[in-house]
Amino acid sequence: MSDEDPRRCGYVALIGAPNVGKSTLLNTLVGAKVSIVSPKVQTTRRRILGIAVEGQAQLVFVDTPGIFEPKRRLERAMVAAAWSGVEDADIVVLLVDATRPEDEATRAIVQKLKQAGRKGVLVINKIDLLPRPALLEVAARYAKDGIFDPVFMLSGLTGDGVHDLKTHLARTLPEGPWLFPEDQLSDLPQRLIAAEVTREQIFRQLHQELPYNSTVETETWEERADGSVRIEQTIYVMRPSQKAIVLGEGGRQIKRIGERARGELERLLDCRVHLFLFVRVKEDWTEDRERYEAMGLEYTS
Ligand code: GDP
Ligand code: MG
Repeated sequence: MSDEDPRRCGYVALIGAPNVGKSTLLNTLVGAKVSIVSPKVQTTRRRILGIAVEGQAQLVFVDTPGIFEPKRRLERAMVAAAWSGVEDADIVVLLVDATRPEDEATRAIVQKLKQAGRKGVLVINKIDLLPRPALLEVAARYAKDGIFDPVFMLSGLTGDGVHDLKTHLARTLPEGPWLFPEDQLSDLPQRLIAAEVTREQIFRQLHQELPYNSTVETETWEERADGSVRIEQTIYVMRPSQKAIVLGEGGRQIKRIGERARGELERLLDCRVHLFLFVRVKEDWTEDRERYEAMGLEYTS
């Protein structure tokens, strides 16, 4: 690409079933951690933008919560956020996990794309886990749907094949001025990123229903004269027994969550961070309008 090429810019939605690797791929495409990742499903709750520049093109990636059959209000809001990402996108990229390519959630998404008359790019992800002939078989099965062109096989984790996808997208986005400053990587305000960092530690360190029954909000953010930042956050849980788990014996668990989150925040913000975590029981936080606004989700969906 040369400077003579026109500038291009547009939205690329990364969609797929939970756990196929959308957030990992986004971080690799952007070259920075803008979306949290965990081995558990439904880690991503809201739509997250990650921004990358390739040649003359600015690619605005939309990481979405996984699309699945929602039951509770929080789940409905997450799936609605995912589909709104699709509606606004110039290009839709469907991610498939090479090791379980035919799961129900993915088939349902393909059906819905067909109904909407949308075409997309197919990414067969996690190729580091499967031999090549098996991958070709997966690609052949999706070719039958007739809505995916081209097909990329890559590993968002190792980065293998990611550049080919990026250059293809850069060439096919519509011509137009860039929407964001050149060095911007994400649209998340710092307070929300900070809350997400702590939430990632909850997903990594606690198990069963607890991560799903909790949310984190940044209450105060104070930049101090010595260049450090003081951040206070509240972790909301639904039951007193969950509060006890988050605190841990003698406060050891919350201390570990806080230490890891603080380390990550110091790397992200490139300054010293004083992080204070509080745990509050709020039985009905998943029905609470304010919590949704804090997460950037629509309450009414
Ligand atoms: P999402 O729910 O679609 O956003 O998926 P995540 O990005 O959170 O990843 C889910 C899990 O899959 C995590 O444990 C990742 O480390 C793992 N993962 C993601 N991409 C790859 C990949 O290319 N190869 C392998 N082996 N694992 C991956
Ligand atoms: Mg995710």
